[in-house]
Amino acid sequence: MRHFFRRIVPLITCALLPLFAQQASQESVLRAKAQVLAQKIIIVDTHVDVPYRLKMKFEDISKLTPDGDFDYVRAKQGGLNAPFMSIYIPADYERTGGGKQLADTLIDMVVKFTKDWPKQFAIATSPGDVTNQFKRGYVSLCMGMENGTPIEHDLSNVQYFYNRGIRYITLAHALSNHISDSSYDTTHVWKGLSFFGRRLVAEMNRVGIMVDVSHISDDAFYEVMNVTKTPVIASHSSCRFFTPGFERNMSDDMIKLLARNGGVIQINFGSSFLREDYQKLEAEQGKEVTAYLKDHHLKFGDPDAATYLKSYRAAHPVTFADVTDVANHIDHVVKLVGVDFVGIGSDFDGVGDSLPTGLKDVSQYPNLIYELLKRGYAEKDIRKICGGNLLRVWTEVERRAKEMQAGKAL
Ligand SMILES: [Zn+2]
Repeated sequence: MRHFFRRIVPLITCALLPLFAQQASQESVLRAKAQVLAQKIIIVDTHVDVPYRLKMKFEDISKLTPDGDFDYVRAKQGGLNAPFMSIYIPADYERTGGGKQLADTLIDMVVKFTKDWPKQFAIATSPGDVTNQFKRGYVSLCMGMENGTPIEHDLSNVQYFYNRGIRYITLAHALSNHISDSSYDTTHVWKGLSFFGRRLVAEMNRVGIMVDVSHISDDAFYEVMNVTKTPVIASHSSCRFFTPGFERNMSDDMIKLLARNGGVIQINFGSSFLREDYQKLEAEQGKEVTAYLKDHHLKFGDPDAATYLKSYRAAHPVTFADVTDVANHIDHVVKLVGVDFVGIGSDFDGVGDSLPTGLKDVSQYPNLIYELLKRGYAEKDIRKICGGNLLRVWTEVERRAKEMQAGKAL
């Protein structure tokens, strides 16, 4: 019997080898194609939390940095051309004040990147800037403001922030503010948008700032869709289809309406946005961790808390989502409304240690492109998903703003 196996096993292996070799070479051809494509097309990512990360701990992002998900070297490696730097204003600023000041500080910081490292970075305030600077090899820094709190009840601040380079505003963040209800806030004070919020959307249309519906409640989303005269974006949201009940992601009905209005949903890479099982586990573990920290009078960020978190993670390993999950969300939008209404809004530097395997930082977009090629997406479709769709919306928002300013009725 042993002799039989000794003879038959090499025979089977010999028969299968050419098949494995063929598959391996097909994979390496597609991987090489993905690398080339990543450099050839314009990749726009609408949510990268670099400014807040550097506010907490400054690093020279023109070089390879040991921490964080973004720096120039890795951006070039991954083919990232136009990250939107998130001008993130924590929700508490609505109560404490100082939101506008913080926004100015963070915008100053992004502008300073381009002064400190002029060969690497350039500010982009239009799709034209993105395209021109792509040809010249720069990483374009666009800016989006996450939370409308810095508008501070004053519509003239829309033009002010436009002049400072802001090209989208996420109406609210983790708590409801004077503009809109938040998906994370159970109080739902406005049952959608406030009166001021409705006027703000109209003013953003007129000035030419994209309205970002990520983070806001469902009621607020539907109200935005009633008020807006231009397409809107969800700068970093995924599909609720995969995470039922998670209001921070978009339902199929909302994605359909967003697409009907010509907008785009930019898929968030955080594992809890991609997979329900991960989200449930994270919630359970979060309760345990919070209880421990409370019992031991520790706060997130304390060195003792960090040591505890490290040991907790080692004792409770988690399985992250992976790059195929991001492709599944893209597929879902494509099946629902077509290839013209989906893009990428990774939330790099914003979702901590929850990024998917294969998409851990900005050097890894080629892995996503590979996954799309493997699923049969054509180059022209990948171009749209990786940036073309967002640039189309941005161009349209600019065009309509010019028309409105010229007094043409829509
Ligand atoms: Zn966010």
